[in-house]
Amino acid sequence: MNFQFTNPILSCVRGDITQMKTDAIVNAANTSLLGGSGVDGAIHRAAGPELLHECRLIGGCKTGKAVITTGGKLPAKRVIHTVGPVWRAETADQAAQLLTDCYFNVLSVALENNLKTIAFPNISTGVYHFPKFDASLVALRAVREFLAAYPDAFEQIIFVCYEADNYELYQMALEPLAVVPILRAEIERVFDGVPPPKVNWKQATLRDDYISSGPEWEKAAANGWKGRWQDIPDAYFWEPTYQSEFNFLDPDGVLFYYPACMVRHLRAVEQGSGQLHEGLWFATQREDRWTLFTPEQKSTVQRFWNWIKLSQDMLLDADC
Ligand code: ADP
Repeated sequence: MNFQFTNPILSCVRGDITQMKTDAIVNAANTSLLGGSGVDGAIHRAAGPELLHECRLIGGCKTGKAVITTGGKLPAKRVIHTVGPVWRAETADQAAQLLTDCYFNVLSVALENNLKTIAFPNISTGVYHFPKFDASLVALRAVREFLAAYPDAFEQIIFVCYEADNYELYQMALEPLAVVPILRAEIERVFDGVPPPKVNWKQATLRDDYISSGPEWEKAAANGWKGRWQDIPDAYFWEPTYQSEFNFLDPDGVLFYYPACMVRHLRAVEQGSGQLHEGLWFATQREDRWTLFTPEQKSTVQRFWNWIKLSQDMLLDADC
């Protein structure tokens, strides 16, 4: 199947953004524009005092906005400075909107200046503490939305990730095929020999409109788990339509590699109509409710969950 997850203009690398030889690099600045820690400090150090002088003349930048300077001594020609939101300074929705604004405004400035290759850092995910996974979703959505509106504006947009966990998130989203074998190996290692959760299927009401049936259900009913399915939070129902879209990732079907402890492939018969539903229920990231996993298993499940969310997010509008 020839399936395109995302726009080929988008890519990610792990490294130091000050080394990028793009038309522009983006600085995660603060409102003063006078330099700071993290990527801001690194950019000012590498660019030299000329950059600070230019920033001083501009006089500041509001959160979510973007301004442009030369690149000073950097290999990149220009620096586009934007100010990300501080996590918890606003509501989560406002912060996400401001972060979206950052990406939009940077790309608008790049477009106005006819800059074709742009390198972004992971804005707000350092000292501003925006959660990394959420920030990656916001960043990728914003950039793809902009590209959908201006498909010919750019040649390359590179997410330059300084930290391993950020890099993995962008890899998962932009190179999902490359990540699958790594994740699978980790899942197999971490869950090797771990028996499925002891679920008492008789207590599993699932949803009001489902009843359980079949030999798997009977077998599971024999053990003594006292919980209910509702206690596995945010259970993830994988619609059959998604299964076929993900199966191409592996000739055997990636679905077979999810250990029973993480997800259960289950059948449910809808009461009344008798219609058969198939899907995967997936125990997810609500830490307070995760009684099933060790910390190492939790971390693997979390990464797996991120992969599903990011891949699914990219699939939903694969045209842009
Ligand atoms: P913010 O205040 O927006 O959170 P930070 O500079 O603290 O800005 O962090 C933003 C991101 O930039 C973080 O993910 C951090 O790891 C990353 N970062 C730090 N130094 C560099 C660098 N030299 N090149 C690319 N990214 C960097």
